[in-house]
Amino acid sequence: MQTNFSADQLRDPDTESSNQVLRTCVHCGFCTATCPTFVLLGDELDSPRGRIYLIKDLLESGRPATEEVVRHVDRCLSCLSCMTTCPSGVNYMHLVDHARTVIEQTYRRPWHERLTRSLLAAILPYPGRMRLALLGAKLVQPVARLLPHGVLGSRLRAMLSLVPARVPTPSALGGARTHRAAGAKRIRVALLAGCAQEVLDPGINDAAIRLLTRMGAEVVVAKGAGCCGALTHHMGRHADGMASARANIAAWIDDAEGFDAIVVTASGCGTTIKDYGFMFRSDPVWRERAERVSAMALDISEVLTRLDYVPTRPAPGLTVAYHAACSLQHGQKITAEPKALLRRAGFKVVEAAESHLCCGSAGTYNLLQPEIATRLRTRKLDNIRRTKPNLIAAGNIGCLTQLAGDGIPVVHTVELLDWMAGGPKPAVL
Ligand code: SF4
Ligand code: SF4
Repeated sequence: MQTNFSADQLRDPDTESSNQVLRTCVHCGFCTATCPTFVLLGDELDSPRGRIYLIKDLLESGRPATEEVVRHVDRCLSCLSCMTTCPSGVNYMHLVDHARTVIEQTYRRPWHERLTRSLLAAILPYPGRMRLALLGAKLVQPVARLLPHGVLGSRLRAMLSLVPARVPTPSALGGARTHRAAGAKRIRVALLAGCAQEVLDPGINDAAIRLLTRMGAEVVVAKGAGCCGALTHHMGRHADGMASARANIAAWIDDAEGFDAIVVTASGCGTTIKDYGFMFRSDPVWRERAERVSAMALDISEVLTRLDYVPTRPAPGLTVAYHAACSLQHGQKITAEPKALLRRAGFKVVEAAESHLCCGSAGTYNLLQPEIATRLRTRKLDNIRRTKPNLIAAGNIGCLTQLAGDGIPVVHTVELLDWMAGGPKPAVL
């Protein structure tokens, strides 16, 4: 694609990076067929190619974002399905991240959107605040239908519908500490405690800690590490996302003994941590440390494969519909490992039709775009139901929350692997 940036504009490293991305696109349109919003809405401007044109015009013009650009970029899930499909290797993730930052800096949203986004950014990355917010939401849930109609009311109802039936108590294994390997130590890893997952389902990291230590890993939840930064980064709040990333990099790199890997059980976070090197590419102070962290980051399924996971219980006779989180299959290109591990653990693994399409979770998307998110959830669950599974497994807390509540138990892959290797049976089964 031809671009027309001035030399002055290209001195900005973000614009220079986006210029390279834009020039890679040959506007063939292959990506449109696998884009969830184009599949649902059928509007070229809600396809990757349409958004690429809108972003190109936004960046080249140097003018504030228009309502039209914001509407179509906001509808993008950042699912990255288009990156898997694109034959030219267009890095849409970096382009849309840049566009979201420019929108945040130049566009004044209506007051209710500013309020919603500010609340999400102030609550979700902080486990203590999020727990309080969930407990408060439980009190409001019974009167949700009395909320006013209109955009704000429907957003609030969407948020309340995602509040779990029970707010879990904090984990006994949680907090910053070191978990010793059982037997001889084979590897020393940092485990990302994260933010929302720690509140919504602390059992996921508990399962990872039990399983990893049993397999000879020393697992460290580092003091000072927390939210990966993705939640705010994908809302265009660049400075907030970078601050979270910096805190994690410092916590992991400053560890005196060093780590063989940084293990992540929420694939949305893993995709962002693996991108820290790019995010700090123009920062002479942080770039090298950020690159080291990105190089060490591994999804839990990658670590368990490398450590040669072996189950100890007999096959449970259960059929698992494996739901591939977008951040895992498109963001990190991890497709085989989770399914191979589940099969090794004795489960029958099935995959639903349209497994490349997002379930509608996408970070804060199901809170900010509830109508499209609900349509994608329904479509996903309809496809999954046709495989007649006993349960659904996925590797990302957002997907687990989005798909829960439809009668089919939803479990993180690592909880199933831990169960089959001597851990407790997941509570939802
Ligand atoms: S498939 Fe790739 S090259 Fe083709 S239009 Fe989409 S982003 Fe551009
Ligand atoms: S990230 Fe997903 S929703 Fe956004 S343009 Fe690409 S395929 Fe479409």
